[in-house]
Amino acid sequence: MADIRLTSVDKVYPGGVHAVRKLDLAIEDGELVVLLGPSGCGKSTVLRLVAGLESLSGGEIHIAGRRVDSDPPDRRDVAMVFQSYALYGHMTVQENLEFPLRMRGVPAAERRSRAVETATLLELTDLLDQRPGALSGGQQQRVAMGRALVRQPAAFLLDEPLSNLDARLRVHVREEIRSIQRKLGVTTLHVTHDQVEALSLGDRIAVLRDGRLQQVGPGQELYDHPRNTFVAAFLGQPGMNLLEGRLAPEPSEPNGEPTAERRSAPAGASPPSETAGSWRVTLTGMEGRLPVPAYPAELGRSATSGPPDSVIVGIRPEDVDVVGAESGLLQGTVETVEELGSERVLHVELPAPTMDATREGGTPARTLFAVRTPRTRTSPGPGERIHLHPRIEKIRVFDAHGTAIDMD
Ligand code: ADP
Repeated sequence: MADIRLTSVDKVYPGGVHAVRKLDLAIEDGELVVLLGPSGCGKSTVLRLVAGLESLSGGEIHIAGRRVDSDPPDRRDVAMVFQSYALYGHMTVQENLEFPLRMRGVPAAERRSRAVETATLLELTDLLDQRPGALSGGQQQRVAMGRALVRQPAAFLLDEPLSNLDARLRVHVREEIRSIQRKLGVTTLHVTHDQVEALSLGDRIAVLRDGRLQQVGPGQELYDHPRNTFVAAFLGQPGMNLLEGRLAPEPSEPNGEPTAERRSAPAGASPPSETAGSWRVTLTGMEGRLPVPAYPAELGRSATSGPPDSVIVGIRPEDVDVVGAESGLLQGTVETVEELGSERVLHVELPAPTMDATREGGTPARTLFAVRTPRTRTSPGPGERIHLHPRIEKIRVFDAHGTAIDMD
């Protein structure tokens, strides 16, 4: 077993595509790190660089403390499982499992016993005499993993290993990967574009965009405290709602009267933090002002230039309540209702310009704001005008470039 360390890793393909930029990432011994990002962000390239299937343009890779970046793949002691698991159709499962050992000249008796041991671990013992064509997709995937594991590699590299499976099987095999990885304690780098897979599998998640590392940490930390709007929107289904606005201090309140927003907090909503409300965001295109949590005020105190006044406010769909007109802070019209069985996602049209349109200087279009609601008979339907109250303490604030200013 071993740790993997990438230091300032860079990859420029011969055609000029700069696929990975100055990547620093450490996967500790026995850890499962998920590399997550949209298609084309450089995930597979990173994996192929670690495996030795591509050469580095810059930086270093160490496995188990040894610099490996000029070693050929077979000297790196890593095993890779691809999306398309090429099993040998004319060989039985047993022969497929033995194949990598045969290639390394392992004696027949040891080959057999290691193949059986791996098959037991992966619950493939009953299938050892079958050929891959007779197996289900999930079973084939397990054989492919077995073939990688049988070599007892120092590290395991998984490239979208679940993407060929149907939804139900994907969940099942995902759990299997997790339990096998825990049982063996094998250092694993797992690549996926699926944020649900990343959140459920990873000890930590590393989010990549255009070859650059955006944030790395435990999934929950990334979900709760995304470092930028890209991570905020990429994690979650739907992702975090992002609205543009201007941050300004709350004018002093005569007679210490509570503000309209505080007075109107709906029953059941968490109370705002003590200093919440001392800064407000006027959302672009919308009436009213949204109180934000305490941190911008703290930032305002510590920064000589004060807080940036143009900001992006992030609100997760589950951190909003549908409320009566008197306590609403945002209002809009339900455009569509997405049924998720136990709950619903309302897509609510707000009179704000979409972030993208604003960014490109294009025509301001409508914003669809996602709201997760319990599935009740009274939950609103398409065309209904509704009022929303975000949980103030959960609101995230980003600067105009999309960088979080609520880092804590
Ligand atoms: P991902 O795995 O996140 O989908 P890749 O690592 O496959 O992304 O690709 C990253 C970028 O590098 C993409 O722009 C892709 O087109 C480019 N790329 C990948 N492989 C090659 C290659 N062999 N030659 C040239 N460009 C490549």
